[in-house]
Amino acid sequence: MKIRKILSLWVLSAIFVLSGNILPQGKPYVILVSYDAFRWDYTSRGLTPNLDSVASGGVSALSLRPAFPSKTFPNHLSIITGMYPEHHGIIHNEFRDPYSERVYSIRDTAEVTDSRWYLGEAFWQTAERQGIRTASYFWPSTPLNLAERNPKYYELYEHKRPYGKRIEGVINWLKMPYKDRPHFITLYMHETDDQGHKFGPNSPQVNLAIKQLDSLSGLLLKRLKDIKMYDSVNVIFLSDHGMTSISSERLINVEEILGKGNRLDGDGPVMMIEPGAGELEAVYDKLKKNEEHFKVYKRDNMPGYFHFDDNPFIYPLIVVAEPGWSLVDNKTRAYYTKGKSRGNHGYDNNFMDMHGIFYAEGPAFKKGYRTGTLWNIDVYPLLCRIFDILPKKNIDGSLERIEFLLK
Ligand code: AMP
Ligand code: ZN
Ligand code: ZN
Repeated sequence: MKIRKILSLWVLSAIFVLSGNILPQGKPYVILVSYDAFRWDYTSRGLTPNLDSVASGGVSALSLRPAFPSKTFPNHLSIITGMYPEHHGIIHNEFRDPYSERVYSIRDTAEVTDSRWYLGEAFWQTAERQGIRTASYFWPSTPLNLAERNPKYYELYEHKRPYGKRIEGVINWLKMPYKDRPHFITLYMHETDDQGHKFGPNSPQVNLAIKQLDSLSGLLLKRLKDIKMYDSVNVIFLSDHGMTSISSERLINVEEILGKGNRLDGDGPVMMIEPGAGELEAVYDKLKKNEEHFKVYKRDNMPGYFHFDDNPFIYPLIVVAEPGWSLVDNKTRAYYTKGKSRGNHGYDNNFMDMHGIFYAEGPAFKKGYRTGTLWNIDVYPLLCRIFDILPKKNIDGSLERIEFLLK
């Protein structure tokens, strides 16, 4: 009996190898979809039948809490590394390394692709090290200038690339022969971010963007059905942060309060300040006396829940605006007074308007399971659990806070 079992297993594996399948069958598939600035409550507007059906056939969370600051690059890196920005290194969309004087900016292609800024290990690197092939149809920070830190397959970021084309790209990867096919794929779309900034979260334009991204969710699932992979693929729909209304009437000109002589970086919800030499206490006191509609913190006294002090590139002073208010200097003021921007994000990550979504379905997930707020740093350990691989040590995320979503 035993010998017969061994023989049949041997025959099965021989057929498997001869048929060109080098990797063992049965490895899970995950598509991680990020909708930039898709706020947690956009799904209660009655505009999202496809995400609603993901919720009933899979799992859904009340919201996904971003890391501070609730900006795009810091949070996409938190999702993909399981670390707070202070640890993965991308502490803002723009910041300066005071030692080399180099400036990281999401608009500077040379810097944004320079691997030296990125201190965490992205999930695709963790996965590739352990035999899982990966791909990315866009993700903030991909690709970097070192091949070993990238997914095996990726597309170069192009803001205007049609969304349908992105989905077809993902489907084409899944149609590759089994031995070449990626098992982990990211997909990124920005429509709710664009429209949210321009017109605000309560605008008809944002409602259109919500409907559009929801239909695209349906299209992705339909295309998976077309290629007969719907039953084997786990799809996670999440977002990096939410959006809140801002106004040209609610501005705080920090440069006007302080005068010249300090380095002010960042505008809107968060500004970082490097005071002139020997001026730290004086600058702090001045801001503290004028603390209306914002809070000023010394880096060393940042409230613990921000997790925003353990990184030498964080400036000595951090100013956080009250939700809906915008911090400006004499240069950035003009942009905000024009009233062309009606929405923003980056504020305190406990402010609910900054929360995103988390919806998922597939063979790994429970069915019709609803939970409360999840933390985005826990997505990385969740991915490791689904693929049954070892997470990188010293991450901030915790499997215990999220694994109950799995079967
Ligand atoms: P923000 O709203 O300022 O936090 O940043 C959002 C912007 O990030 C979007 O408008 C995207 O165009 C941009 N973005 C997203 N992914 C990438 C990428 N891989 N490379 C460059 N820019 C990106
Ligand atoms: Zn974003
Ligand atoms: Zn944005």
